[in-house]
Amino acid sequence: MKPMGPIPPGFGADGEGRLLIGGRTFDDLIADAGGTPLFVYDKSLVGRQIDRFRAAMPPGVALHYAVKANPYAPLLPWIAEKVDGFDVASAGELGCVAHLGLPISFAGPGKTDQQLEAAIGAGVTINLESEGEAERALAISALGNRPPKLAVRVNPPFALKGAGMKMGGSVSQFGVDHDRAPALIRRLIEAGADWRGLHIFAGSQSLHAEALIEAQAATIALAAEIADQAGAPPPEVNLGGGFGIPYFGGDQPLDLEAIGTTLSNVLQERGKTLESTKFAIELGRWLVGEAGVYLTRIVDRKESRGETFLVTDGGLHHMLAASGNFGQLLRRNYPVAIANRFGAEPDEEVTITGCLCTPLDLLADSVELPRAEAGDVIAIFCAGAYGLTASPQDFLGQQRAREILV
Ligand SMILES: *Cc1c(COP(=O)(O)O)cnc(C)c1O
Repeated sequence: MKPMGPIPPGFGADGEGRLLIGGRTFDDLIADAGGTPLFVYDKSLVGRQIDRFRAAMPPGVALHYAVKANPYAPLLPWIAEKVDGFDVASAGELGCVAHLGLPISFAGPGKTDQQLEAAIGAGVTINLESEGEAERALAISALGNRPPKLAVRVNPPFALKGAGMKMGGSVSQFGVDHDRAPALIRRLIEAGADWRGLHIFAGSQSLHAEALIEAQAATIALAAEIADQAGAPPPEVNLGGGFGIPYFGGDQPLDLEAIGTTLSNVLQERGKTLESTKFAIELGRWLVGEAGVYLTRIVDRKESRGETFLVTDGGLHHMLAASGNFGQLLRRNYPVAIANRFGAEPDEEVTITGCLCTPLDLLADSVELPRAEAGDVIAIFCAGAYGLTASPQDFLGQQRAREILV
């Protein structure tokens, strides 16, 4: 037997052991959506995270949603009512949120001239990734009649410790090295741009409050140092995000209250340079990850040399991360359950695969579950972030996944 992660809070069963998502049975949702494989996103669970953030973080710290975690169109207007801004990482994502009326910032390497022009025209804040991008943005905006909103993304000299994905503390395609940021800021101001401030993102998927606290404090200190050298206080500092969720056996949820308390102290003690700066935190995974469930139906139950396999109609082409092939060094099991026997005691050890013709298509390896047959439905939890749009859906030409919001 191999361990699996904890099922996130907020899911239950009806009297017959059928998984409830947003108060509805899984089979009702499948019927509504037209079949499996299906992603279900429970907006009340997204709302729960937003409320927790507001309660724990110092007042005045803005919350931005990083659209790449889950760009499902029906989810975005709902989130727009509850957050303070969107962070997008492509022109496509910009198109998904441009009509929703919130402030938008645009980060990401390789922005083309056409994308810069569209973003500047739409009044979006560009998080500049290099001096070259800055010059292109200035040249493009010289044609318009209002100064472009430009912020500088900084490649910090530190990384978020213990993060699933580190950004910073090294060479990088992201941002301008911190020691070159002051000169770039002076250049932007001299060129007449509306300099919006700094964006510093040190890593992703951390469950360690201590490491996040340290990274936030280091980010605020670095922002003050850069601003002093540039001789200009930043209107805004985006502290990045990096808040993780528990996926695997042994993972503990993040202590949000500890982060909020320390951040509040650090902000109270910030020096004069950052006195009137507005701070933002940008989150993707932590807001939506636990709100999603991937439902896939068992097509075949088979034995191989004493091991039981449940073969499903889904797979890594929809849920690459659960197969261990999206950013993990070692494959570990996501939380999974039999949706029609939710909460029942386990009585066998099984391996769950998808339907793709590759041994990589493993959804759960040697986990203990209640007995299940062909026709039953597997639920994979923690599927709300970096799920469908982070997976190679066209690989092998299998069925496309459906999505539904409850
Ligand atoms: C991906 C990304 C995020 C979101 O990261 P999560 O770990 O999902 O919270 C935030 N900011 C930037 C710049 C990103 O690229």
